[in-house]
Amino acid sequence: MGRKLLLDKAHIEGIRYYKTYRENGGYAAAEKVFKTMKPDEVTEEVKKSGLRGRGGAGFPTGLKWSFLAKPEGVPRYLVCNADESEPGTFKDRYLMEFLPHLLIEGLLISSYALGANTTYIYIRGEYAWIPDILEEAIRDAKAAGWLGKNIQGSGFDLEIYVQRGAGAYICGEETALLESLEGKRGTPRIKPPFPAVKGLYQCPTVVNNVETLATVVPIINIGGEEYAKYGTGKSTGTKLISACGNINKPGVYEIEMNISVEEFIYSEEYCGGIPNGKRLKACIPGGSSVPIVPANLLLTTAKGEKRMMTYESLSDGGFQTGTMMGSGGFIVLDEDQCVVRHTLTLARFYHHESCGQCSPCREGTGWMEKVLKNIENGKGKMSDIDLLWDIQRRIEGNTICPLGDAAAWPVAAAIRHFRDEFEWHVNNPSEALTRNFGLAHYADPLPVPAPAAV
Ligand code: SF4
Repeated sequence: MGRKLLLDKAHIEGIRYYKTYRENGGYAAAEKVFKTMKPDEVTEEVKKSGLRGRGGAGFPTGLKWSFLAKPEGVPRYLVCNADESEPGTFKDRYLMEFLPHLLIEGLLISSYALGANTTYIYIRGEYAWIPDILEEAIRDAKAAGWLGKNIQGSGFDLEIYVQRGAGAYICGEETALLESLEGKRGTPRIKPPFPAVKGLYQCPTVVNNVETLATVVPIINIGGEEYAKYGTGKSTGTKLISACGNINKPGVYEIEMNISVEEFIYSEEYCGGIPNGKRLKACIPGGSSVPIVPANLLLTTAKGEKRMMTYESLSDGGFQTGTMMGSGGFIVLDEDQCVVRHTLTLARFYHHESCGQCSPCREGTGWMEKVLKNIENGKGKMSDIDLLWDIQRRIEGNTICPLGDAAAWPVAAAIRHFRDEFEWHVNNPSEALTRNFGLAHYADPLPVPAPAAV
């Protein structure tokens, strides 16, 4: 069994409630911080741990905290990004729903480290039932003296508020989130200035993901150096992965970042293999924004080694030829899945979610959807594939926020790795409509991986 740091107590009945959480070692990290540590020492521990942001970008958390401006007389804010809207990603939902006090404790310690006396949890509107769970946890933590004035006699004050979003994917982008939190339309800001200097209400602000902030608790409990012994290389610790698609056991898994992709897909401890003995065709390992990878590249690196579930191994070869750990939304496609249809679904999503501020994203996402729809419906021309390539190329890197890249990468990767499938749709319009094909049209079928020995 892999070692766990976040979900190690998730099986305990009633762990969602303060009493049970406390009886099982909850708030021990906060106690340690208030009794023995100065704010900068907390930041140092987080730096030593090597923790990288779990929202998608993977930026070192301690470094991000150290960028926070600290002008005299100006409030600082910590904002918890719980706007988990990336298709395929649902791990933060699990934490908030079943371990709300782990998040509250993480927010408390992080706010203390940053000198923030007000913290917001910005949660996606579709998670309609979770704010009540969080607000109950906040009330109970406050009643037990972990929030409010002079917490545990430390002189530190903190209030945590839950703010519901209204269902816009773009509000997961940190500056759009801040606009929305201020009561405005959620559109990304041009950076710089970065939130660490001018964030919420133009004050210094750190925006961190739910899992990132919850992970601060085990880091303080065991120490940054000990935490860094988990995982491998620059992928320290454990990571939550939400696995879905064509696997036997979809769900949220905590992995230590030292296992192979093959083990994750085929072992009984995790996904349990592909249903009905089907072959693995491809995977999107980090949420819908990251490039799709065909089975052979997914399981093996260019050096012939096993690809690992780490930031470095998954992004081996760069964004365009490799892929990314991203938000940990692991979507598996078996041999019956159509990459063109899949890419169209994503293109439709990004077109719908574009905020419209920049023309490459606003217009380009619509164009990509239109061209993909034609190809998918048997009305495409061979030149449409090059047109699609051209559109995505003009979007990438030419927009205010990363949504443009997120819309371009899936299209680029699908054409790069599955161009023959696009051509097959153009050449076989009537069959493309029936949707009934697997790998049969491949001149050179993808290798079928052997199940991992577990
Ligand atoms: Fe809006 Fe798209 Fe531009 Fe981002 S890239 S600011 S979502 S138009």
